[in-house]
Amino acid sequence: MSKTRIGILGYGNLGRGVELAIRQNEDMELVAVYTRRDPATVTVETPGVAVRSAEQLEAGNEPIDVLILCGGSATDLPAQTPVFAGKYNVIDSFDTHHNIPQHFERVDEAACAAGTVGLISCGWDPGLFSLNRLFGNCFIPEGSDYTFWGRGVSQGHSDALRRIEGVADARQYTVPVEAALEGARSGTHPNFTTREMHTRECWVVLEEGADPAKIEAEIKAMPNYFDEYDVTVNFISQEELDRDHAELPHGGFVLRSGDTAGGHTSVIEYSLKLGSNPEFTASVLVAYARAVARLAAEGQKGAYTVFDIAPAYLSIHDGAYLRSHLL
Ligand code: NDP
Repeated sequence: MSKTRIGILGYGNLGRGVELAIRQNEDMELVAVYTRRDPATVTVETPGVAVRSAEQLEAGNEPIDVLILCGGSATDLPAQTPVFAGKYNVIDSFDTHHNIPQHFERVDEAACAAGTVGLISCGWDPGLFSLNRLFGNCFIPEGSDYTFWGRGVSQGHSDALRRIEGVADARQYTVPVEAALEGARSGTHPNFTTREMHTRECWVVLEEGADPAKIEAEIKAMPNYFDEYDVTVNFISQEELDRDHAELPHGGFVLRSGDTAGGHTSVIEYSLKLGSNPEFTASVLVAYARAVARLAAEGQKGAYTVFDIAPAYLSIHDGAYLRSHLL
């Protein structure tokens, strides 16, 4: 079997997850990890895997079939994905939902000009949740959509807590409200406010001398992050945070409910319960990297999202196997 040669750009949680996920896909081979930091300071999990400077990608001649971009959505991916789509087949997990159309346009322009394939916004949300929202809207044309996240660590909200003066470290969990989840499942199509769907749970380590009451008030009033939610704030030591909150679990639910033309109610529910958000997201990226390699081998080019890729392209197995085992 000829293997798909993978490069990883950016070695944080997701980059490490991709490295691990490749081990479970025997048709994939990790060629190198590329980083913007000094490669000598980055230690990877797999002995023998090269760590190279991201600058080496710039000539466009690294021996890889697909480059999996594992940088952050805030500033890394908007800059990196269009540039590297101009040189390699790429895939990213860009998750700033309202900027996806603009990101798609920029990657499409670069990939069409270079004759490469660029798959953006892959993972679970956006990604698998998006597919399930699309299926729900096609199969229940008249209905209501619900997306619940959690219980899980929101890295964006954890970062926002850490930026508060007097906060040494923090973790934030997003928690779905059970009553709202049950309401969505009931098929009665309820409407919810933001506050009714999720609560936010904060675990905060204070710097010495910081005032807990002031910091709690500041957290609860923070616009865009916490002010529209019921928030609990717990103060703990760094040791407790490291011991009890080191993992990155996540997950959630996508529901669609509505009535068919004959007046009967249908409810579709898709859920994920993830022990490690980055490791699962990485597994999705690796399966889609297989699809990217296949599309590129067919001579396709341009930007794609998960909506544009037929499911069989994700599988290591051929059509005959899939028809006899999974249909
Ligand atoms: P990290 O913060 O762990 O890593 C982001 C980048 O930071 C790395 O690629 C790395 O690039 C750089 N970095 C700099 N210094 C360090 C350091 N000391 N240790 C580790 N990394 C460092 O982010 P995640 O990997 O957790 O997440 C990446 C993105 O994935 C998120 O921004 C999110 O948008 C997306 N995501 C998408 C999901 C989806 O379902 N679509 C789900 C989960 C995440 P370099 O090596 O070049 O320095």
